[in-house]
Amino acid sequence: MNQKVYLSFSELEKITGGKTLTFSSDMPIDNLLTDSRKVSILQGTLFIAIKGDFHDGHHYIDKLYQDGIRQFLVEDGDDDRYRDLHGANIIKTRNSLEALQKITAYHRSRFNIPIVGITGSNGKTIVKEWLSQMLSTRLRVVKSPKSYNSQLGVPLSVWQLSDHHQIGVFEGGISRPGEMAKIEMVMKPTIGVFTNIGSAHDRGFSSEREKIQEKARLFENTQVVIYCKDHEAIDQVLSTSMRPGQKLFSWSKKQSADVIIKDIYDHEGMKALELVFNDRHLFFKIPFQDPASLENIINCICVCLYLNFNETVIQESILGLNQVSMRLALKQGINSCYIIDDTYNNDFAGLKIALDFLMQQNQKSKKTLIFSDILEAGVDKEILYKDVAALVASKSLNRFIGIGPDLMNYADFFDGDTTFYSDKSEFLKSAGATGFKDEIILIKGARKFALEEIADSLQRKIHGTVMEINLDALTHNLNFYRNKLDTSTKILVMIKAFAYGSGFLEIANLLQFHRVDYLGVAYPDEGVILRQNGITLPIMVMNAAPESFGKLIEFNLEPEVYSLRMMHLLVDFLKTNGLSSKIHIKLETGMHRLGFKPQDLKDLVDVLKNCPEIKIASIFSHLAGSEDAEHDKFSQNQFDVFDQGSAFIEKALSVKPLKHILKSSGIIRFPDRHYDMVRLGIGLHGIGYDWEVQQELEPVASLKTTISQIMDVAQGETIGYDRMGKAHMPKRIATIAIGYADGFDRRFSNGKGVVWVNGKLAPVIGNICMDMTMIDITGIEAEEGDQVVIFGKELPLREIASKIDTIPYEILTKVSGRVKRVFYME
Ligand SMILES: *Cc1c(COP(=O)(O)O)cnc(C)c1O
Repeated sequence: MNQKVYLSFSELEKITGGKTLTFSSDMPIDNLLTDSRKVSILQGTLFIAIKGDFHDGHHYIDKLYQDGIRQFLVEDGDDDRYRDLHGANIIKTRNSLEALQKITAYHRSRFNIPIVGITGSNGKTIVKEWLSQMLSTRLRVVKSPKSYNSQLGVPLSVWQLSDHHQIGVFEGGISRPGEMAKIEMVMKPTIGVFTNIGSAHDRGFSSEREKIQEKARLFENTQVVIYCKDHEAIDQVLSTSMRPGQKLFSWSKKQSADVIIKDIYDHEGMKALELVFNDRHLFFKIPFQDPASLENIINCICVCLYLNFNETVIQESILGLNQVSMRLALKQGINSCYIIDDTYNNDFAGLKIALDFLMQQNQKSKKTLIFSDILEAGVDKEILYKDVAALVASKSLNRFIGIGPDLMNYADFFDGDTTFYSDKSEFLKSAGATGFKDEIILIKGARKFALEEIADSLQRKIHGTVMEINLDALTHNLNFYRNKLDTSTKILVMIKAFAYGSGFLEIANLLQFHRVDYLGVAYPDEGVILRQNGITLPIMVMNAAPESFGKLIEFNLEPEVYSLRMMHLLVDFLKTNGLSSKIHIKLETGMHRLGFKPQDLKDLVDVLKNCPEIKIASIFSHLAGSEDAEHDKFSQNQFDVFDQGSAFIEKALSVKPLKHILKSSGIIRFPDRHYDMVRLGIGLHGIGYDWEVQQELEPVASLKTTISQIMDVAQGETIGYDRMGKAHMPKRIATIAIGYADGFDRRFSNGKGVVWVNGKLAPVIGNICMDMTMIDITGIEAEEGDQVVIFGKELPLREIASKIDTIPYEILTKVSGRVKRVFYME
C-alpha cells in the first residue's frame, strides 16, 4: 500500500539508464504492472513489458493503451513503433526485467529499516509468514505476498515498502547461478536467515557447495546471518565467507552456538522447547509436532531473540500461529457455485493476488467477495479501507460481503451490492448459504474470523476422496512446451475426456487465460458446455456426428472432417440451412483410425470447390509412434504422405490453412515438424514420454483419500470379498475410502497396487471393493482419518500405471465424476 507516491516517470532515465522514446507530461508512478492480464488500476500505472520464456509483454502494449494505461517501459521497438500512442510516456531500456530490478532497488534505498532476507531450500515461505506474524505484534511489517521470491517476485515484494513500515520480511529463491546477486541488489537485507539446504539434486548447480554459496550471496551486506549450525555444509560456507564486521547468529542441538537447544519434549499436547540464550534458560510451548515445523519455528525465535523481543511476547505470538497454507484453492460449491478458499490470512497484497485469481475464472460471470477485516497493527484504518474499497471497485464485482467491526465502520466506502456483518456467526445466521447461486465466491479472511466455516457451508459435500489439481504445475508444463516452439507456432490443447480427467471447464479457463490458440475436444457436447461457460477460444471437435451439426454451428464449434461420407452430409446440411462452417481436414497417413486416404483427395477437393460455405481452418494428421525412435522411419513416411496430401489440397483449392501433426511426445522429438500448430495433451498433465522430459515436468493431479477404519487381524483370518486377502501372520489393516467405482482400478487388487501412507508404501490386500479398499499397514504408523495418496508427487502416475500394464492416460481418465476436484495455486 503506497499512501504516498515515491516515483515519477521523469526519474526513470536516471534510475534505469534507459532512453525516453516519447514523453507527453510527467506522471506519478505508484503501481508497477508486469502481467498485462491483471490490469485494474490505470492512473499511476507503469506497464513493464517483459519478455518471458514464451510470453512477450510487448504484444499487449496497444491493448493496454486502449484500456487507458499511459506509461510504458519497453526493451523493443523505436519511436516509430509507438507513434500512435498519443499522450503516452515510453522509456526504452536494454532489459525490462533488469530495469524493474533497478527501479525497485532504488525504491528500497529510500527506507532505512531492518529487512529480513530469508533463503534456503525449504521453509522460506513458512518462516516468512510466521516471522511476519510474530513481529507484527510489536512492529508494522511488510512481507512478500505468497511465495513471491523470484527475479520478478522479489522486486514486486520490495515495491510495497512505504514510510509506514518498520521492518520488512522477504524471501529470495533461485534456480540457477547468478540470480541471487540481483535479488540481493533489490532486497538489500540487513538480517539474513538461511533455513536449510535440501539434498534434492538441483539442475543448474554443479554441487551442494556451489548451491549454498550462491544462496549465501543474499547475505553479502547483512549485519548478521541466522542459521542452524548443525547443517554442516551451510556452517562451513558461512564461516568462511563472512566479511569483517558481519556476525553469525547460530543455533544448534549439539554444539556451542548463540542459541543452544537443550531439549524438545511432549508437554500438555504440545511440544516444549528448552533453550539457552545469553546464559539464560528459556522455555517455549510450540503448537506443532513435526520436525520441519520445529526447525522453522526455531529460526523465527532466533530472529526475535536477535531483535531483543522478550520471551513473553515471543511465546504469545507463537501460540497464535497456524500451519501455513499459501494455496488459493478453487472448489465446487453448492448451487453451481465455485468457492475460492483463502481463509488463512488477510492483507492488502494478498487480496490483490486473490482478486486476480477470481477475475481469471470465467466459468461464471457473477463474482462475489466475502472479506474480513484486515488485522494489521498501527495502520491508519481509514486509508487502508479506502484502498481496499478502491481495489474492489476496480474489479467490478457483483457483490461484496464484509465481515468484522472495522468494515462495518467503513461500509460507506463500498459501492454497489454490499452487506456487512460483525462476525461470521451473524452472517451464517442471517444469509447462511442460501443466497448464492451460479457465482464464483472468493472467501478471504484473517484467521481470527474463522471464515473457513463459511467456506465449509458453501462447499459441495461429497465423500473424502479428492483429486487435487495443481494449476501452477499445469502452467509450468504449458510453458515448458511453449518454450520448445517458435513464437509463430500455434498451440492447440486437447482437453478431451474431461481434460484427461482433471476437470475441463477449469482447465479450459486457465488455458484461455494463458492465451493458447485452440482447444480440442472429442464430442460436440463438450464444446457446447465450454461455450456455455465463458470459453471463447476456437474449438476443434474430433467426433461430430451428423445429428449434432446444428449444435456445432450454433455454438461456433469447428468439426474435424475425416471421410467423404461425412463431408457430403455436412455440405448438404450447410446448403439446406444456408449456413457456413470452418472445418479441419484429417488425413490418414498410417495410424489407420480416421482420415482421408491419398486416393480420396481428388474427390474431396471436387466437393470443396463447389462449396463456398466451407472454410478449411486446418489440415492435420496424427502420428502412430511418435514416442519411440524405433518408429522414426515410419513417422518420416507419415510426414511425407502428409506433405503430399496437404500440398495437393492447398494447390487445388488455392488455400493456406494451418497444418499440424504432432502431439506431446512429437513436439519434443520432431522439432522441425511443428508446422503451424502442435496439439498438446498428456504433457500438460505432467507426463513425459521419457525420463529426461519427465524431469522437466511437474505432476499436476494427485488422487487422495482417507483412512476410514483400522483393524488388527489375527493370523489365519481373511480380508475382503472372496476371502482373497490372507493374513499369514498377524496384520494391521486400514480400510480406505476409495474403490473401483471411484476409478481405483480393480486390477490393483491383491498386492498389485500400493498406496502412500505417511511416507511409506502400503500394498492393497484382498480384492478392491466398489467404494472401499483394504490396505496392509503393518509396521506403518497411521491413524484413522489420515490421508492416503493413490497417485501424485509421492507416487508417480507412470509407476502405478505400469503395475497393471497400462498407461497414465487410462488411470487419469478413469477417475470417476463422483471424486471431487479441487484446483489450487500455490
Ligand atoms: C489425444 C490427441 C492428441 C494429444 O495426445 P497426447 O499424447 O496426449 O499429447 C493429439 N492429437 C489427437 C488427434 C488426439 O486425439
